[in-house]
Amino acid sequence: MLKNRLPRLKKSLGQHFLKNKNIIRKIVNAAGIDSSDTVVEIGPGGGALTEEILKRNPKILVCVEIDPEMVEFLKEKFKSHENFKILNEDAKKFDFSQAGNSLKILGNLPYNVSTVIIRNLLNHINTIHSAVFMTQKEVANRLTSTSGKDYGYLPALLQNFFKIEKLFDVPPSAFVPPPKVWSTVFKMTPLNFRMEEKELKEFENFLKRAFSNRRKKLKNNVGKPPSTELEEIFQKRAEEIPPTEMLSLFRKIWQMAPK
Ligand code: SAM
Repeated sequence: MLKNRLPRLKKSLGQHFLKNKNIIRKIVNAAGIDSSDTVVEIGPGGGALTEEILKRNPKILVCVEIDPEMVEFLKEKFKSHENFKILNEDAKKFDFSQAGNSLKILGNLPYNVSTVIIRNLLNHINTIHSAVFMTQKEVANRLTSTSGKDYGYLPALLQNFFKIEKLFDVPPSAFVPPPKVWSTVFKMTPLNFRMEEKELKEFENFLKRAFSNRRKKLKNNVGKPPSTELEEIFQKRAEEIPPTEMLSLFRKIWQMAPK
């Protein structure tokens, strides 16, 4: 019988696989999985985290992997686990409601598309219990910052919807092949705040415009303030305005705008 061999690694898909067992355990511990949980793993690759997740015996584990060769490899590797399911899909567009609800999501994310995958969570926030991700350190720093050079449109958007907490850093030596940069594990937990789709789209556009030229003041990036009350804040740069203030500013402007 042919041995189930790990397929050739593909750099273009960010395939840096975890080999450090302590780190693997720490990541899975951070997700707090037990036998009543529905778990989604993004980018299982060779199955390093998958194996550890299955040891916790969740009710069901749904893996989302874009590489069909890895999908076939993992189907064979975990065929004896009835609670293991794998989908050959793109996590950037994955509809998380397919997997169930109150999902505990986990992933050592492909670094080149990590922020697009994380942005997709917002579209499915009602199905999520929590998410534990590893990305390159710089991305984690950006997502958790509330002002200054690391801060930008995505943290301003996401921090209104999720609590985002950094957990620990991981050195390049924990992976094969080692990436060039350090990584950080962090946890995202949905807050109670929600927005209608139309308003969310406008809020996101507003933030993109506000941060479009970082050195310029808000008035130069988004236009004249719609009332004298807002003149002072329009003199600031977007990177000086924390996420919750961005939201209340947007809502004031949105209420004044003709519909
Ligand atoms: N979980 C494994 C580990 O920790 O060893 C692999 C992590 S590796 C950094 C990222 C994985 O995500 C790869 O298996 C890659 O094929 C997969 N991937 C890349 N882009 C993807 C996408 N858009 N949707 C789903 N999986 C993707």
